[in-house]
Amino acid sequence: MHASEATAYYFKRASKHLGMSERLEKILIMPKREVKVEIHVELDNGELVSYTGFRVQHDNSRGPMKGGLRYHPEVDPDEVNSLASLMTWKTAVVNVPYGGAKGGISCNPSVLSHSELQRLTRAFVDEIHDIIGPTLDVPAPDMGTNAQTMAWIVDQYSKYHGWTPAVVTGKPVELGGSKGRDAATGRGILFAIQAFMQDEGKALSDLTFVIQGFGNVGSWAALLIHQAGGKVIAISDLTGAIHNPKGLDIEALQRHAKETGGIAGFPGAESMDANKLLMMDCDVLVPAALGNVLTKENAADVKAKYIVEGANGPTAPEADELFIKQGKHVIPDIFANAGGVVVSYFEWVQNIQQFRWSEDRVNAELRTIMMEAYQDIKALAKSNNCDMRTGAFLLAISRVAQAAAVRGLENDSFCMIRPTA
Ligand code: NAD
Repeated sequence: MHASEATAYYFKRASKHLGMSERLEKILIMPKREVKVEIHVELDNGELVSYTGFRVQHDNSRGPMKGGLRYHPEVDPDEVNSLASLMTWKTAVVNVPYGGAKGGISCNPSVLSHSELQRLTRAFVDEIHDIIGPTLDVPAPDMGTNAQTMAWIVDQYSKYHGWTPAVVTGKPVELGGSKGRDAATGRGILFAIQAFMQDEGKALSDLTFVIQGFGNVGSWAALLIHQAGGKVIAISDLTGAIHNPKGLDIEALQRHAKETGGIAGFPGAESMDANKLLMMDCDVLVPAALGNVLTKENAADVKAKYIVEGANGPTAPEADELFIKQGKHVIPDIFANAGGVVVSYFEWVQNIQQFRWSEDRVNAELRTIMMEAYQDIKALAKSNNCDMRTGAFLLAISRVAQAAAVRGLENDSFCMIRPTA
């Protein structure tokens, strides 16, 4: 199943509860705009190379569109579409005033020099500067891009439109980036787990965790879960997988990964078969690396009772249906990993107000937003007698549809879309 089909499946599963018409479903599933541009860049050796760049703008009913920009050899338009739509639902779940977008350039950033990447980024901005902006569409870093990429975008965009740091988020702090942005997705995962486990009557110290991925999301989630008393017993990344039934020392693992480029060879753990990681005996599984890793092929072997989606789209619908049948709980991506976009929103707010927040304020406001979203999702899941993902989609779809209705973008049938809470 393609990524966009999986997102559409979850959307439709929720929209059934709302009694939505097919026509309305179609409007909310299809992106509003898909832009494809050719970018010509001179390499350091003088050769002229063309790259294809994309920006998919899914929905702007609730505000400017928001979503990452990835540089990857296989930027797949179908996946970009699916991720753009997930951003619409994610920003609605956490009630930040944005729609959803996603984009990227088909390129291999690891073989491009610093100056080639800079030229590529500036040339891309030349092509798309009139469709992005603080009130239109606000990109952010994603796979293969980082704070430096965002800094180049600010600089190039500002040549056309005047000084505009709010055109992107995830910038270096010196250029208007927010404190706490780096840890935000991992911190949001911690808050999501704390909120859910409180209802389950469980303390983090009672639970064992297994995490796939030790990049931005996985390493921050691991560190914060560890610091909050949770026992992280296994982790994997591209270099391999490690486990220690007594719990991994995450601070030491971070130092090791920084020095060696990965988690393999960490002296405080045994190495293990990375293919077995997702099926390990544990309480909480946090897939925080890739999409589509829990599938119909391996779902029956997953032992964790709780699955917290750090990555975007890690669970295929067939696996999700099985987990529901088995009474497992999935904390869905559009809520669990929303901490990043929430702090991106704080960055945008700080840029527009030309004001700086302390890290404590960022973390406290993030906690408030995650806790409110959790309560909203829980109320809908309870009243509709459904799983948390469907509850989150119900919340998101109804917020987007209601915003579209009151703006007068569609006919009155939008107004019918009110979930019962
Ligand atoms: P990243 O590039 O920083 O880290 C990815 C990690 O996954 C690395 O440790 C890498 O080694 C590991 N990995 C790659 N392939 C693997 C494999 N086959 N098995 C095990 N590990 C593997 O990326 P990230 O920013 O941490 O993003 C991870 C996921 O979370 C993506 O799905 C991304 O879209 C999603 N996400 C990220 C953010 C954010 O703020 N960074 C926010 C929301 C969602």
